[in-house]
Amino acid sequence: MSERVKIILDEKYIPDRWYNILPDMPEPLAPVINPNTGKPATANDLRPIFPMALIEQEMSQEQYIPIPEDVRQIYKLWRPTPVYRARNLEKVLGTPARIYYKYEGASPAGSHKPNTAVAQAYYNKKAGINRLTTETGAGQWGSALALAGSLLDLEVKVYMVKISYEQKPYRRSMIQAWGATVIPSPSRETNSGRAILAHDPDTTGSLGIAISEAVEEAATRPDTNYALGSVLNHVLLHQTVVGEEAMMAFKELGDYPDVVIGCVGGGSNYAGLAYPFMRERLLNGKETKFIAAEPEACPTLTKGVYAYDYGDTGKMTPIIMMHTLGHTFVPPGIHAGGLRYHGMAPSLSSLVKHGLIEARAYHQNAAFDAAVTFARAEGFVPAPETAHAIKATIDEALKAKELGEEKAILFNFSGHGHFDMAAYDAYFAGNLKDYSYPEEKVREALKYLPKVEV
Ligand SMILES: *Cc1c(COP(=O)(O)O)cnc(C)c1O
Repeated sequence: MSERVKIILDEKYIPDRWYNILPDMPEPLAPVINPNTGKPATANDLRPIFPMALIEQEMSQEQYIPIPEDVRQIYKLWRPTPVYRARNLEKVLGTPARIYYKYEGASPAGSHKPNTAVAQAYYNKKAGINRLTTETGAGQWGSALALAGSLLDLEVKVYMVKISYEQKPYRRSMIQAWGATVIPSPSRETNSGRAILAHDPDTTGSLGIAISEAVEEAATRPDTNYALGSVLNHVLLHQTVVGEEAMMAFKELGDYPDVVIGCVGGGSNYAGLAYPFMRERLLNGKETKFIAAEPEACPTLTKGVYAYDYGDTGKMTPIIMMHTLGHTFVPPGIHAGGLRYHGMAPSLSSLVKHGLIEARAYHQNAAFDAAVTFARAEGFVPAPETAHAIKATIDEALKAKELGEEKAILFNFSGHGHFDMAAYDAYFAGNLKDYSYPEEKVREALKYLPKVEV
């Protein structure tokens, strides 16, 4: 096996197609429900907010979807991203495991999110749409879409969850540097925002609320569409460039992962890395183990229910079958803003339900301990979200040490933490709170799940 630490493929290895897991799922996904009719949603229901090309991808049963050449050209700005062998971390842990990570911090916005932002902006532009609205939690998605808007010449307006707007002023500035507009959510600019503020003027906001605002504006303005940074099938689809590249890097190395790990907010970076490897398990009998890491403060997969629920607090979005903590649930203000979402991608939820993906939840101090161990060994400072994947990776590597197992572990380094130094400050000062699972708040929120009969 090669002794290399860093594997960068040539740009000719940027995949020319995305992998769609839907036709390979153990069971077809439950139909998406139109919140107004209570009936399965049609392509037409989604037309006010999405271009047809993305609606088709959302519902496609084709195993592969070609990546437009214009999108591949933009991917060349940062793709293929490197795969690293974390040799120093292995030494520090004294593990016989081989630890690898795919470095998605290499994009201009610093995370995996531009992989789909660019594709979504491209299809909207092609459909004649020149303006997009979106929400952002930690600011990663807002900055990724702002970047895509600047590369493809679209106007972008970002509703940013209030607590992040206050905690992360630099992501806000980055969004503005790429020419987009950013306002704190809940805002007074939409009916959904005003309704929330009337009820709870001091709310820290949530992704669920910000989504309602962005969708409302897109649905009520003909020149404007909406773009979502996670959860939806087409978003996970676009992220599979990550896993397909990793697959090729492993071929080059002559190795193959036994364990594939990622953090999960809505599921997109993890699905992006994991689904091509899941394909090999589902169709070709590879015995890879899959682990999804989430925060204890927002434990969608480990403590939520698998049920029909709205994607947003204002009940504007379709109702989908997924793991959920309830659309009215507002998670505690942890620093991994990208993991503060009440729901989870339907395909990922289904794979968890079928026992193909194992979910684990971690407290934020444990995640930061892992992040700092990693940074001191490997150099790269991870985003607080990524820190959850690193915690799961270190746990697996230590287990391998205990059992004397020489296995290969791959995790997705979903983003760097350069805009998260306030969170690191709080951690070093000993001021990070570990919120235990807010069981009562979740039980309360689960009362409001929609009743759906299909
Ligand atoms: C947004 C984000 C996440 C969580 O979103 P997913 O859709 O679950 O990937 C994780 N890591 C980083 C760095 C992010 O920006």
